[in-house]
Amino acid sequence: MPTTPQPRPNVLAIPTYVAGKPPAPRPGLTPYKLSSNENPYPPLPGVVEAATEAAAVMNRYPDMGSTALYAALAETLGVPVEDLAAATGSVALIYQLVNAFCEPGDEVVYAWRSFEAYPIAVTAGGARSVQVPLTADGRHDLDAMADAVTDRTRVVIVCTPNNPTGPAVSQADLDAFIAKVPSHVVVVVDEAYLEFVRMDDAIDGVATYRQHRNVVLTRTFSKAYGLAGFRVGYAVAPAPLAGALRAVSLPFGVSHVAQAAAIASLAAKDELLARVEDLVARRTDLVTRLGEVGWDLPEAQGNFVWFPLGDAATDFAAACGEVGISVRPFAGDGVRVSIGEAEAFDRVVEVAARFAP
Ligand SMILES: *Cc1c(COP(=O)(O)O)cnc(C)c1O
Repeated sequence: MPTTPQPRPNVLAIPTYVAGKPPAPRPGLTPYKLSSNENPYPPLPGVVEAATEAAAVMNRYPDMGSTALYAALAETLGVPVEDLAAATGSVALIYQLVNAFCEPGDEVVYAWRSFEAYPIAVTAGGARSVQVPLTADGRHDLDAMADAVTDRTRVVIVCTPNNPTGPAVSQADLDAFIAKVPSHVVVVVDEAYLEFVRMDDAIDGVATYRQHRNVVLTRTFSKAYGLAGFRVGYAVAPAPLAGALRAVSLPFGVSHVAQAAAIASLAAKDELLARVEDLVARRTDLVTRLGEVGWDLPEAQGNFVWFPLGDAATDFAAACGEVGISVRPFAGDGVRVSIGEAEAFDRVVEVAARFAP
């Protein structure tokens, strides 16, 4: 017997989450943080007021059932409340999916590179990651992912648009993929960036989940809605699956302030759409300018662009840091730059020009 407490072996194997860093100050330069896909806008109208009011009752536990939030989401999405599961960010839902559906050693299939929380949540839950390489242009290889499903597979995750590379899956490709996955396997469609998608045959997540008994949509208030600091996400899934996700959730996880802010954000739909439209326009502008300096990037459908820099990734990030901009490097692979303040773009383009392929 060891003489000190030992965590389960999988706990020691959990990769560390590398959070986007704030920019280091540079004399004479306004710093910009483009490293975490955050929304550069302040909270939507009415949100600070709703959250402030909610903060006044912080001596009370929040509504554990997030009743008002579920009602607002059900109304907005046109789905029954039993088909919803709110959580402390959609990251928490990935943990809950593994906890609810995987026995130790069961397999979770997802594309790689993709969202870095996936391997962390899968390993923490004692399951096994099966990572299927992206295509050369940063897309999911859905055929290879379907082929990677085995008897041990319990969950497959489709991240669309894919963080950090940017391309989104089409409805036709998603439909074909779901048709190939056995119906006892949970198909998670991680739609963290759905509001930013502008393509033909874009996914209609709600219509898709309605057609299947094994499809779970995960969504978040962190990106388009700009509530990253408050930690609210939700799943839309057939009632038995949503119920399982609620059953393994942390009691009272979503704070009263976060619930109030999310509800107020849903009410500001027009302002939300206007902001998203503006961020999409900034994305188009940045992609055009990067094209002019020699970059043919993977299709950017989220609020970020991806530079497939390989070994130059850390140098590129350091060069951005020199001019007061923090970006998110993935060593040996590439750099993700968030669509934040347009004032930062001149500097991004200038650095990108120096590193053009
Ligand atoms: C940001 C992100 C999320 C959501 O994060 P939360 O802040 O936990 O809601 C989920 N999936 C992907 C792919 C993301 O990039």
